[in-house]
Amino acid sequence: MVVVMQEGAKEEQIQHVIDRLVSMGFDIHRSTGASQTVLGAVGVPADFDPRDVEVLDGVREVVRITQPYKLASRAFRSQGTVVELPRGVRIGGNEIVVAAGPCSVETPEQIGMIADRVAKAGAKILRGGAFKPRSSPYSFQGHGEKGLKMMREAAEKSGLLVCSEVMDASQIQMMLPYIDIFQVGARNMQNYFLLRALGTVSKPVLLKRGMSATIEELLLSAEYIMAGGNHNVILCERGIRTFETATRNTLEIAAIPEIKKLSHLPIVVDPSHGTGIRDKVPPMARASVAAGADGLLLEVHNDPEHALSDGAQSLFFEQFEKLMAELRIIAPAVSRTIA
Ligand code: PEP
Ligand code: MN
Repeated sequence: MVVVMQEGAKEEQIQHVIDRLVSMGFDIHRSTGASQTVLGAVGVPADFDPRDVEVLDGVREVVRITQPYKLASRAFRSQGTVVELPRGVRIGGNEIVVAAGPCSVETPEQIGMIADRVAKAGAKILRGGAFKPRSSPYSFQGHGEKGLKMMREAAEKSGLLVCSEVMDASQIQMMLPYIDIFQVGARNMQNYFLLRALGTVSKPVLLKRGMSATIEELLLSAEYIMAGGNHNVILCERGIRTFETATRNTLEIAAIPEIKKLSHLPIVVDPSHGTGIRDKVPPMARASVAAGADGLLLEVHNDPEHALSDGAQSLFFEQFEKLMAELRIIAPAVSRTIA
């Protein structure tokens, strides 16, 4: 539920409303703008009557949101959220932000070479897995902390930020000094214990859509993180499982405008996992930008044929550079910019 206070409502009135809501059992998240205060009230009691709040002094409107998520909803914050990162990188603003890198961090040479090339082509964030959620326990599982160190070093040299996957709450503290964005993988989108733990950290979370998750379930997972106090959540469409087998997943481009309508959170697209096939990645990346994505997550490798994971969907450097040049033509057509 969202309580919109009247413009110029007095501090005592606002505090009284907050006290009443807390006594009813709500958890309150206050958002104060230049002239207006909005209260997000989480955890609607079963017997709640909105009129009890509507009649309080200074209240303009009580909006019962039908969606089960509140903090992630557009009604809670009509303006889009911009996630602010170091080096002046902003996700959700006018500029489309590209994160690029290998599926897995393999060696210092590999990650260094990739960081250098993608940075020169306009990427702002280095992606790469140090903990790999592989479908088979016998596949390469990632280098763990050693991999994160390699990534951080490469990113520092090339002026990039680091985005890497966290698979378990026990890894969070160790990862904090190495990463700028915690990635939650598709397989962990509904790991509620992990999401709650990420709600208490100060760094942004890139939350990938589960492979069989609805948009509502994705937004409910974002809600778990936000309810803990971390409002810096970036959503990621990475394709879902459908009856179609021609591509690894079915990338839902329509999820971009739908999520924009339902939520104020930025949405980025991962066409690498979304299609699973290298030559399908550039067209889907172009379509995502045209459809309003705030950023892209792309797998790029110096030697995709020998990559330890996801080589088939990793772009060659030249393909990535060509794609960036194409995006520089598409972005202005939809009133956006790109580096
Ligand atoms: C990845 O980004 O390397 C990854 C494992 O993605 P997903 O969780 O979307 O499968
Ligand atoms: Mn991958």
